[in-house]
Amino acid sequence: MAQRGKGKDLVIAIDGPAGAGKSTIARLVAARLGLRYIDTGAMYRALTLKALRSGVDCDDAAGLIELLARSKFEFPVASSPENQAILLDGEDVSAQIRLPEVSQKVSRVAMVPQVRRELVRSQRELAAQGGIVMDGRDIGTVVLPEADIKIFLTASLEERARRRFLELQQKGIPATLDEVKREIAARDKLDAEREVSPLQAAPDAVIIDTTALTPAEVVAQIIHLCCERGEG
Ligand code: C5P
Repeated sequence: MAQRGKGKDLVIAIDGPAGAGKSTIARLVAARLGLRYIDTGAMYRALTLKALRSGVDCDDAAGLIELLARSKFEFPVASSPENQAILLDGEDVSAQIRLPEVSQKVSRVAMVPQVRRELVRSQRELAAQGGIVMDGRDIGTVVLPEADIKIFLTASLEERARRRFLELQQKGIPATLDEVKREIAARDKLDAEREVSPLQAAPDAVIIDTTALTPAEVVAQIIHLCCERGEG
């Protein structure tokens, strides 16, 4: 039987600000190591989408908590981590949760302590079996402080905005580079300054600045780290 925290049981936490490449890197690392991938931002985004659809104000903590109690999030088994979808109450909302109106509101929803408490609980349940790469803002610090490997990805604001802008263009979602830059800067500020689990690197996280690196180079660094620690 595999030893806890080794090989297929490995738990990898990836945190960092918007557009630092977390989901691209996390998916690739999960595919390389044969692990599951869970995008915790997708859960906060799905709740935000539901609030927008239901007319619940994103600052209405009681309304959000009530909505969350009636929500079901699922990450169906995917052919590969690259195709990992999220279902909200049985509906595949993987595309809708990326819309600019969701991005603009999600950090307000993520500030509500009871929303975080509930989602953190679900995230821990999802990770309980091990064998997972989870990305977000507080994975190494709060959700999975015992993770085997903790990575904190960063990149310059300009580069992060450029990447997000290209991603939106590819998906046919209209936005200007300037709008994207303002949106991620505003989100970073709310995420880094909120009282409950603010965005920050865990003291034992390995910080990787991805500004001048390709995804393949970042993945290689992480795989190297796993091998170095005897966990690859
Ligand atoms: O990762 P992504 O950019 O999709 O996350 C959207 C938002 O969800 C973040 O800006 C943040 O406000 C919130 N979030 C969080 N904690 C996480 C993941 C995401 O607060 N673990």
